[in-house]
Amino acid sequence: GWWSLSDKNVYDWSSEEEEPDGRARPIQVLLVKDDHTFELDEAALSRILLAEEVRDRDVVAISVAGAFRKGKSFLMDFMLRYMYNHASDTWLGNADEPLTGFSWRGGSERETTGIQIWSEVFLVDKPDGSKVAVLLMDTQGTFDSQSTLRDSATVFALSTMISSMQVYNISQNVQEDDLQHLQLFTEYGRLAMEETFLKPFQSMIFLVRDWSFPYEFSYGQEGGMKFLEKRLKISENQHEELQNVRKHIHSCFTNISCFLMPHPGLKVATNPNFDGRIKEIDGEFINNLKVLVPWLLSPRNIDVKEINGSKITCRGLLEYFKAYIKIYQG
Ligand code: GDP
Ligand code: MG
Repeated sequence: GWWSLSDKNVYDWSSEEEEPDGRARPIQVLLVKDDHTFELDEAALSRILLAEEVRDRDVVAISVAGAFRKGKSFLMDFMLRYMYNHASDTWLGNADEPLTGFSWRGGSERETTGIQIWSEVFLVDKPDGSKVAVLLMDTQGTFDSQSTLRDSATVFALSTMISSMQVYNISQNVQEDDLQHLQLFTEYGRLAMEETFLKPFQSMIFLVRDWSFPYEFSYGQEGGMKFLEKRLKISENQHEELQNVRKHIHSCFTNISCFLMPHPGLKVATNPNFDGRIKEIDGEFINNLKVLVPWLLSPRNIDVKEINGSKITCRGLLEYFKAYIKIYQG
């Protein structure tokens, strides 16, 4: 097959200790502290990106970003399942298997603004014969006050600069303030980067959760694209501010797409004992998950990170990460 990775069983760990037996887990590499300063865990980031098998490989960096409690970890656990099951047709596993990964640990449930990276980088063979390293990032922020908005914007900016695919996870709809936030954090990012004639960022994927108007725009990518086209349309009778937000977003990304996800059902949304088993998730959600995850992660669809038109390796990404952080640390 075209997949290979250091195959560790990640589905039954339980210890909270630092990489107790080498099993993979989420690592908080960037943390925004209460005094609004940034802390980069350079040692942890180096351990992940400079591991011998991956450091000289071109890197695909996939970030899922958005506010807390909107189902990011839940989605990322399915992304991990897809990666660990080598993109096989049966990647979803059996109906009774509890979901593990980003959400397994109490620490990841704390509402800290920052970036977590999955400690295992996956090696994937692309159809063109290249072998790339795939990095999964969870970027979270809070938007509830002026100061946390600034922190969140910086963290989002960083993750957008570092990633080749940014999944913007939002709830129910694409609201004007979602677009304003996106403008704010891409503006933060662009200011910190060298000017080039290329668009500064690669793929932006709007992922709308709990979409409830499938009769207007159907679930999935096609409905999403039509919906987004309408939402991002620039027209003359729009207020200038609305026009500017849209122009800005168009100018920042090489690819912009959208996927509309249905509600996963009440067990997922409200039952505190729900452990992620497929049996208890709405069928419509599962059907769309089966489309969404391969659409994001299949070997043919993943894009290598480029900066100023050049492909970046894991080692290179570490250097950029450190350099970008310095800019924000002032
Ligand atoms: P995160 O903070 O964004 O990582 O959110 P989590 O993945 O931890 O999920 C927060 C809560 O929302 C949990 O109770 C999940 O079971 C639930 N949840 C997960 N996905 C969805 C979704 O698509 N819609 C709704 N309404 N709830 C979800
Ligand atoms: Mg989470």
